[in-house]
Amino acid sequence: QKSTVVVTGASSGVGLYAAKALAARGWHVVMACRDLKKAEDAAQTVGIPKDSYTLMHIDLGSLDSVRSFVDTFRASGKTLEALVCNAAIYKPLLKQPERSPEGYELTMTTNHLGHFLLCNLMMDDLKRSPAPEKRVVILGTVTHNPDELGGKIPPRPDLGNLEGFAAGFKDPVTMADGKKFEPVKAYKDSKVCNVLTMREMHRRYHDSTGIVFSSLYPGCVADTPLFRNHYPLFQKLFPLFQKHITGGYVSQELAGERVAAVVADPAYNQSGVYWSWGNRQKKDGKSFAQRVSPQARDDEKAGRMWELSEKLVGLA
Ligand code: NDP
Repeated sequence: QKSTVVVTGASSGVGLYAAKALAARGWHVVMACRDLKKAEDAAQTVGIPKDSYTLMHIDLGSLDSVRSFVDTFRASGKTLEALVCNAAIYKPLLKQPERSPEGYELTMTTNHLGHFLLCNLMMDDLKRSPAPEKRVVILGTVTHNPDELGGKIPPRPDLGNLEGFAAGFKDPVTMADGKKFEPVKAYKDSKVCNVLTMREMHRRYHDSTGIVFSSLYPGCVADTPLFRNHYPLFQKLFPLFQKHITGGYVSQELAGERVAAVVADPAYNQSGVYWSWGNRQKKDGKSFAQRVSPQARDDEKAGRMWELSEKLVGLA
């Protein structure tokens, strides 16, 4: 019997190629996507064998949809050996915030709150699987970390004291820190929450369950559709800039391989770790456990983020 991995946002970019690389490693991939027709076409286009994947609907920007996904997954009778939180939106040009059906700002909901709920609900499924090794992998990004070159470009992420979460995160609140809406910062804030979630899950559950929790920065995958909401000129120049000037560029295939390695390879069985291959890609460059940003390694902040997120998603 194959091991099963759920990959969110597997209809494009890093998630699609991670699905492909995991299928090649002998896993069965549940592609958790909001557009199943698009996901099916994508799976066919990159050549994932038909019997290696199942499509299931999820809209991470809706907490009800996350709950229905978990019901559908359970009804399938599959066991769960790994979960990859990959889906994300990045909308740098928004002037006004978009909202989830619950009324929460949509970037934070999709990237963080939806995955936070999914991870919490699926802990039971992971625990139930008899497999000796189980993993949860959450995609991070260099832009979460102002200590690094890629993270120095303003606006910097800042969760403040999570005043916006504490105030209920609905209109007129738009940001985790309760300050003015800033779409690029909303994305970076959500990625800080992703790393905090990984570290807090490790602290809460690793010892008692043996589940391995990790995060990674796969490199700058400058030509994924993540940048589809940016200026067209940016979309043209950014990959060239990353390829020829910063040296940060990685292909979608390589990024997918890296995610699959962190999910499946024995070398990545350490919990609580943020894996990186560095900002400048070297030939045969090796991965290493990287220190995360001061905010993302702040245990007190992780605890507060966890408790407030539990309230926002209706778990507490
Ligand atoms: P893409 O835009 O190519 O892929 C994002 C995926 O998320 C798509 O499958 C998209 O679905 C899905 N998605 C978006 N919103 C929702 C939703 N509400 N419900 C379900 N699925 C949704 O981006 P990337 O592949 O570049 O990014 C993947 C991850 O990698 C993200 O977490 C990102 O932060 C991270 N990352 C990316 C880097 C890069 O340079 N590109 C660098 C570091 C990290 P659909 O196809 O329907 O739009």
